Amino acid sequence: MGRLATVDRLLKFGIQVPPSCVFCDSADETLDHLLFNCTITRALWTRLLNWLGIQRTIGTWQEEVNWVCTWAKRRTEKGAIISVIFAMLVATIWRERNLLRFHNGYFQVDRICREIAIHIHIKGQHNRKWQQELLVLTNP
Ligand SMILES: [Zn+2]
Repeated sequence: MGRLATVDRLLKFGIQVPPSCVFCDSADETLDHLLFNCTITRALWTRLLNWLGIQRTIGTWQEEVNWVCTWAKRRTEKGAIISVIFAMLVATIWRERNLLRFHNGYFQVDRICREIAIHIHIKGQHNRKWQQELLVLTNP
């Protein structure tokens, strides 16, 4: 809903923070940059899509939300899996952004992909309908 406290919004509230993106350091942090104009976060989403066997060009934040919603509305197992992965991707990017920005954390694509994969497989253990879909998903 555009409510995340991205740097452009913090600056509007008068909160001074370094404006550049903590992932690529080559553009100012806005919602649209973070999700998914940024080369780093776009590469992460591309990798997860490839893991799901999907080849497509990633668009703006709104286009990606629309694309995921289209899948979610199909009420298929794959649609459910895509929705969960997308939600987790966004939550993870936001968490990593906060770690990098406020706690001097470090960022590793491999660690994040593994974390999302493990989450999906654990969730799938309790969901018989997902198991067929998850058989093909090994290492992202
Ligand atoms: Zn960036």
